[in-house]
Amino acid sequence: MRTKSIKKNRINVITLGCSKNLYDSEILMGQLKANDKDVVHEEDGNIVVINTCGFINNAKEESVNTILHQVRRKVEGEIDKVYVTGCLSERYKPDLQKEIPDVDEYFGTTELPGLLKVLGADYKHELIGERLTTTPKNYAYLKIAEGCDRPCSFCAIPLMRGKHRSTPIETLVIEAEKLAANGVKELVLIAQDLTYYGLDLYKKRRLADLLKALVRVEGIEWIRLHYAFPTGFPLDVLDVMREEPRICNYIDIPLQHISDKILKSMRRGTTEERTTRLLNQFRELVPGIAIRTTLIVGYPGETEADFQMLKDWVSRMRFERLGCFTYSHEENTHAFNLEDDVPEDVKQQRANEIMELQAQISWELNQEKIGETFNVVIDRKEGEYFVGRTEFDSPDVDNEVLIEARDTYLKTGEFYTVKITSASDFDLYAEKV
Ligand code: SF4
Repeated sequence: MRTKSIKKNRINVITLGCSKNLYDSEILMGQLKANDKDVVHEEDGNIVVINTCGFINNAKEESVNTILHQVRRKVEGEIDKVYVTGCLSERYKPDLQKEIPDVDEYFGTTELPGLLKVLGADYKHELIGERLTTTPKNYAYLKIAEGCDRPCSFCAIPLMRGKHRSTPIETLVIEAEKLAANGVKELVLIAQDLTYYGLDLYKKRRLADLLKALVRVEGIEWIRLHYAFPTGFPLDVLDVMREEPRICNYIDIPLQHISDKILKSMRRGTTEERTTRLLNQFRELVPGIAIRTTLIVGYPGETEADFQMLKDWVSRMRFERLGCFTYSHEENTHAFNLEDDVPEDVKQQRANEIMELQAQISWELNQEKIGETFNVVIDRKEGEYFVGRTEFDSPDVDNEVLIEARDTYLKTGEFYTVKITSASDFDLYAEKV
């Protein structure tokens, strides 16, 4: 059946989930481009590839709905082919093949060559890190490792991504050089567990060495760290962060909870005392560091007292950036053997309470910035504002700096010095200095 209006054989890649999945989509698109395929990201195309997420219930639901939507379009003749890859496909391929048979083929997270083949392309080994980035030109994600060796009880990621595999330092430097040559000025380093970097490949933690190599890449102005892990944290990373101006004084470290009972059940390998001590070391060794964390509420067995302990701790620690998830009961994880005993509405209520508290903390911290000047990168223009970020703000998840566009012009991707004039809970308003 002839497809209606869409340009023939254009491959449309749709990405769901996290920045690591986005990175994988960019690698796929880079391979397709190198095979002279017409490929786009989340635009029109008669061949659709859905890179799914299978992390928690909400994400799985979104992935299934996206597959069903694209399959419907295929059945109605709007598009020709639907392929599915990524974490949901890795985790549930047999069920998906049975439940949604109209998908042309399902691929796991390590089956890129097979996916390329059905798209009429060959996997090109020589394309080290070459990808079609989808982020604004001035920043890009750099995935330094895949998989995870940690035993966190609630997490299905090791089921979908396998064991931890670090990418060699030399390969990452080449990738960074290519990105810088394309105008990238900010690298956002990602992995499932950033701080585990090197333990497999070099038998020791080498994140600090990787950072020392990346700061020498010409053109890269900012390097940002995401997804650190508290246990066995390599403190030499903080020395490099303090000494190297190109490393943002920023760290994302999901901590999940603080009650010793819950941390033990989560198999996080740490305690309240050790976690708090580590955060205090961050603030001592890198003055002014912005700490981002993520918490889970409603974990099996979490009592009102455990939750109150978490809330009090959040009040005391005053994180610069914080996100909060409700626990998702994931089959084949260790925690799935526990009773999911916290009712959904209580989980949601607890998440709301944490985010209300964080909004207040963020507002107070932002008020202290009024009158100060910051180096800001401009990501885009939106309505009557130029929108930028300080080194303390990661793309898409943190605060933004809004600069009125009425009588000034700022170039996207450029850095400017601005003075903060006012602040809300999650945004700063500024004028160019
Ligand atoms: S470190 Fe992160 S990815 Fe690894 S098991 Fe724990 S929560 Fe999952």
